[in-house]
Amino acid sequence: MQTTPEKPRVVILGAGFGGLTAAKELSKIADVVLVDRHNFQTFLPLLYQVASAGLAADHVAHPIRGALRKSGVQFRMGSPIFIDHKNKEIKLDSSELLPFDYLIVALGSANADFGVPGVVEHALGMKSVTEAIAIRAQVMRRFEDLCRFEDDTIFSIAVVGGGPTGVEMAGAFAELVRGPLTNDQRHASEHIRVHLIEAGSRILPMFSPKLSARAQRDLEKLGVQVHLNTAVKQIKPRTIEIANGENISAEVTVWAAGVKGEPAAAQLNLPLINTRIDVEQTLQVRNYPYIFAIGDIAGLANSQGRLLPMVAPVAMQQGRFVAQQIQRLVEKKALKDFKYVDKGSMATIGRHKAIVEVKKFRLVGIPAWYAWLFLHLFYLLGGRNKIGTMADWTWNYLTFDRGNRHIMDAN
Ligand SMILES: Cc1cc2nc3c(=O)[nH]c(=O)nc-3n(C[C@H](O)[C@H](O)[C@H](O)COP(=O)(O)OP(=O)(O)OC[C@H]3O[C@@H](n4cnc5c(N)ncnc54)[C@H](O)[C@@H]3O)c2cc1C
Repeated sequence: MQTTPEKPRVVILGAGFGGLTAAKELSKIADVVLVDRHNFQTFLPLLYQVASAGLAADHVAHPIRGALRKSGVQFRMGSPIFIDHKNKEIKLDSSELLPFDYLIVALGSANADFGVPGVVEHALGMKSVTEAIAIRAQVMRRFEDLCRFEDDTIFSIAVVGGGPTGVEMAGAFAELVRGPLTNDQRHASEHIRVHLIEAGSRILPMFSPKLSARAQRDLEKLGVQVHLNTAVKQIKPRTIEIANGENISAEVTVWAAGVKGEPAAAQLNLPLINTRIDVEQTLQVRNYPYIFAIGDIAGLANSQGRLLPMVAPVAMQQGRFVAQQIQRLVEKKALKDFKYVDKGSMATIGRHKAIVEVKKFRLVGIPAWYAWLFLHLFYLLGGRNKIGTMADWTWNYLTFDRGNRHIMDAN
C-alpha cells in the first residue's frame, strides 16, 4: 500500500506581493502559517493616489484573512523576533513559537535615507497607508493655511526621487492643485508649487531616454518644476539643502528616493548582501537551505551581477517559484534556479499621460494610461477594493474632483 507523504510545515513571514502569492500556491501541498504585522495587505503601487486624495485609503488595503478564506492557510498577526535553527522554530513578538520544515522570508523593504541628515525628522516616507494619510493631511493642512492668507505666501511641496513613485506622486499633486484645489480656492491653489528633485541626469532611468524626456515634458506641462542633477545634502524644516549649496523651500517634503531591505532580516541574523538577504539562485538563503527569501528582501543577482529590482512582478514570480521549489524538495527532486521574466515597466504622470515600455515596444499618452489603469485594477486584491477604486476613478475622471481630501491623521 502506498502512503501519502506528510505535508511539510511552512511558515511565511510577510503577507505582501511575494508572501501572499507563495501562501496561496503552497496551500495545496503544505500546512502553511502566514505572519504579518498588519492584518491587511497594502497595494503599494496605488499608495500615491491615497496621498494625493485620489483614492480612499481602505481601497488599497485588503484583509489578509479575506484573501486566505477557504485556502486552509493560517494567519498570525505579529512580527518575528528570533529563529531557533536547531529546533526549526520561529518566535513571534507574541511569544508564540511556530515550528517549520521550511521558512520563507518575504518581509519586503523599508524607506532608505542613504545617510542624508534630516530625512527621518523632516521628510515623509511613502511605504504605508499611515504615511500616505499623513502626507495627504500635511498637504491639505497647508492648503487650509494658505486659504486664510490673501497675500503672496507660497507653499511648496517637494518630492525627492525621480523614480516611478516620485514621478507619479509629483504628477498627482500637480493635478490635485490644478483641479480640485483650484475649484476650492483659486488664490490659494495659485500659490502652491510642486518640485520633483532627482540626483541623476534624468527621471525614470529604467525607461529609455526618449520616454524619460516625454515624462518630464508631461510633468512640466502640469506645472511640476523638475530639478535634475540635484543631490539632496540635508533636509531641514521647510528647506532642502542641495549639494551645490542652493536651497529649495519646501513646507512638505516627500522622500521617494529609494528603499532598502526590511531591517527585520538583519535582526533575525540572516546573511545580508547590502541590506537584502543573501540568497542562492535557488532562492535558498546562503548557508540555510531550509530558509528561502523572496521579493524586495531577497538580494538575488541577475546574469549581469546586478540585484533584481524591487518591484511587484519579481516578488510574485518568486512567490510562485518558491512554492514549486518546496514541492520539488518534498518529491526529493533537484531544485532549479530562479529566472526573472521582465514584462516591462509603466508609469503614469496624470490624466491621459502615461508611458509603457516592454522591451522595444513603447506606448505613450492615452493608450498607455488606459493600459496602466487596467493593469492596476486587475492586480488590486478584493472585489470591494476593485469596485471602490473604479468608483473613485470614475468620479475623479468625470468631475475633475477628488473626494478624499480629508485631513484624517492623528492630529
Ligand atoms: C509607493 C510605492 C509604489 C510602488 N509602485 C510599484 C509599481 O507601480 N509597480 C511595481 O511593480 N512595484 C511597485 N512598488 C514596489 C512593490 O510594491 C514591491 O516591490 C513589492 O511590494 C515587493 O513585494 P514583497 O512581497 O517583497 O514585499 P511587500 O509587498 O512590501 O510585503 C512585505 C510584507 O511584510 C510585512 N512586514 C514587514 N516587516 C515586518 C515585520 N517586521 N513583521 C511582520 N511583518 C512585516 C509588511 O507588513 C508587508 O505586508 C512600489 C513600492 C512603493 C513603496
